[in-house]
Amino acid sequence: MSWAIANELAELEAAGLRRRLRVLGSPQGTVVNLDGREVVNFSSNDYLGLAASAELRAAFAEGVRRYGAGSGASRLVCGGMAPHHELEEALAAFKGTQAALTFSSGFAVALGTIPALMGTQDVIILDKLCHASLVDAARMCGATIRVFPHNHLGKLEKLLMVSCSSARRVLVVTESIFSMDGDAAALAEIVELKERHGAWLMLDEAHGVGVLGPQGRGLAAALGLEQRVELQMGTLSKAFGLSGGYIAASRNVIDLLINKARSFIYTTAPPPALAHAAGVSLKLIQAPEGDRRRVKLNANLQSFRAQGLGTQHTSQSAILPIIIGNETLAMHLSARLLDEGFLIPAIRYPTVARGSARLRLTLSAAHEAFQIEALAMRLRCATAELADSEALPEAFEVSEGG
Ligand SMILES: *Cc1c(COP(=O)(O)O)cnc(C)c1O
Repeated sequence: MSWAIANELAELEAAGLRRRLRVLGSPQGTVVNLDGREVVNFSSNDYLGLAASAELRAAFAEGVRRYGAGSGASRLVCGGMAPHHELEEALAAFKGTQAALTFSSGFAVALGTIPALMGTQDVIILDKLCHASLVDAARMCGATIRVFPHNHLGKLEKLLMVSCSSARRVLVVTESIFSMDGDAAALAEIVELKERHGAWLMLDEAHGVGVLGPQGRGLAAALGLEQRVELQMGTLSKAFGLSGGYIAASRNVIDLLINKARSFIYTTAPPPALAHAAGVSLKLIQAPEGDRRRVKLNANLQSFRAQGLGTQHTSQSAILPIIIGNETLAMHLSARLLDEGFLIPAIRYPTVARGSARLRLTLSAAHEAFQIEALAMRLRCATAELADSEALPEAFEVSEGG
């Protein structure tokens, strides 16, 4: 037997796919300290600039003062405290559902919810670009998995037709805003289709909540479809500026999850101070202050788009991917931008398909106009260099099939 861990790492390295951690030496923000240097941060999902805000720092501290640091046990043992329950009531009201349940992360929401509801007699129909948490949850539960090409309604309808006659339950799973492309689900059409066939829909609003819709209530609310989406998932880790995840649904679904969702039952409750801070974040998101931040975010997006870089035409969100293709080339560009003071990560396989490596640029309400202009100017040069591929070192030419 040979484990050959070093070989595996070397193979990743050779393919341009080895990942390494970086350490920030400052709080989140539009300017962060990375390895001792200040760089402008265009990589975070902190879309409203709340993660290091005075409001949430104060709320977190107040939560610790009132409730202590740890929660001591799982929710079903003795770890559930008032702020957990208050947060869930507020989330249910926000999403327009009877009830909601919070988990320690968005990932844990998917891993707990799907296997609690779906099993071997069931079919799960996923958009091809669904997040890893949704894919893993679907695989775990033993249901038959079918996948439709991204937003392909014709294929989705065919899958619904073949699935709905024989399965016990059929669940369609999609995201409101796709995390690596920034485009939106064809939600109105998907809702129509799943209703016509009697399936349920699980909508992951990780990148929609806080950003889209009235009071930041997400894409379903923006389209007036909240009452027609059975399972509304989201995270407290992105626009909310904290960490954790939620699912909003009917009272019966939530009660079943409390009984069956393993990533809810067999884990310690999140710190009560975190739930308290999330409640404050939710209030901010719904308040005029939230509107002010969304207006600023949209103004930033508009001013970036007005630069005419033409790279993000399908994005309907704060996520603006610049598709490069080749993994090594994307890494090279990202490293060069970092040298010049811009933190924009390259996203590669397996997070996105092979050969569709990209720079994943995100904007926040906290960015200032001059930061966006400086970035646009730099990107314009970078894309010009890309077009003139002779300017690139040979090793980075788009030919290695990576
Ligand atoms: C980030 C993300 C998650 C996971 O949420 P966490 O709270 O970070 O665990 C789930 N789904 C999508 C689409 C995401 O982008």
